[in-house]
Amino acid sequence: MDQRERVVEIRGLEKSFGDLDVLQGVDLDLYREENLVVLGKSGSGKSVLIKIMVGLLRQDAGSMKVFGQEVAALNKKELNALRLKIGFSFQNSALYDSMTVRENLEFPLVRNVKNLTRGEIDRRIEELLDGVGLPQSINQMPSELSGGQKKRIGVARTLILNPEIMLYDEPTAGLDPITCGDINNLILEVRERYKTSSIVITHDLACAKQTGDRMAVLLDGQFKAIGTFEEVFPKATDERVKSFYDYNF
Ligand code: ADP
Ligand code: MG
Repeated sequence: MDQRERVVEIRGLEKSFGDLDVLQGVDLDLYREENLVVLGKSGSGKSVLIKIMVGLLRQDAGSMKVFGQEVAALNKKELNALRLKIGFSFQNSALYDSMTVRENLEFPLVRNVKNLTRGEIDRRIEELLDGVGLPQSINQMPSELSGGQKKRIGVARTLILNPEIMLYDEPTAGLDPITCGDINNLILEVRERYKTSSIVITHDLACAKQTGDRMAVLLDGQFKAIGTFEEVFPKATDERVKSFYDYNF
C-alpha cells in the first residue's frame, strides 16, 4: 500500500457531452509535491478533467476528490475556498494587456484577500517576481515582454494566492525549444520553492520528461499507462502510447 498523501483522488470518472463520451472511467492520483504529467492528443479530455477538478464542470459518474473532499458535493462557499488552493493557469490564459505587470499580479490578490496593507501587497508581488526570475519587469506592460516572460508572469500571477496545487495547461505551447526548457525549469523551481503539487498537461514529450515525476497517458477516455517516463515510453507495447513516443523523439 502506497503511504504517500494523495491530494487528488479520481475514481471511475465519466463525462459525456451528448453522444461524445470524453472521460470513460478515469482513475488517477496526484501525490503531495509530485509533478504529474498528463499526456493525450488534442480533444482527448485533458482540460475537461481539470475543469471538473475546480468545479467548472460536473462529472456524470465517478468520484473526484481534492484534499479528501468530493468536489461535486461542495456548496458555493466551499468551492470558492477550494479554488483558492488551486492555481489554474488556463490554456492561452492571457495577461491583461492594459495593466502593468504589478497590476496584473495585484488584481487577483486584492480581489481575493481582504485587508492587506500596501506594504504586504508590494512584498508579495516582489517575492513572486523574484521567484519567477523577473524582478525588473514590475512596471512593464505585457506588450514589452517576450512570450517566455509572459508565461513566467502568468505563473507568478497564478502563484500569488499561495496555491497548494498548480495546474499547468499546455505551459510550453507555442514557445521555441530554448524557452520551453526555461519554462520546464521554472515548473521545477516552483515546486522546490513553494512546495506545490502539480499537474502538467502537455503533448510535448520533452516537457514531460523534464518536469514529470510520473506520466499518465489519456487514450479513449482512460489512462492507459501511468508511471515514470522510462516505465511508460521507451518500452511501450500499446501502439498508441508508442506512437506518441515515436512522433516526438
Ligand atoms: P483537450 O484534451 O484538448 O484539452 P478538452 O478536454 O478541451 O480536450 O475537450 C475534450 C472534448 O470535449 C472535445 O471534443 C471538446 O470539444 C469537448 N468539450 C469540452 N468541453 C465541452 C463543453 N462544455 N460542451 C461540449 N463539448 C465540450
Ligand atoms: Mg486542453
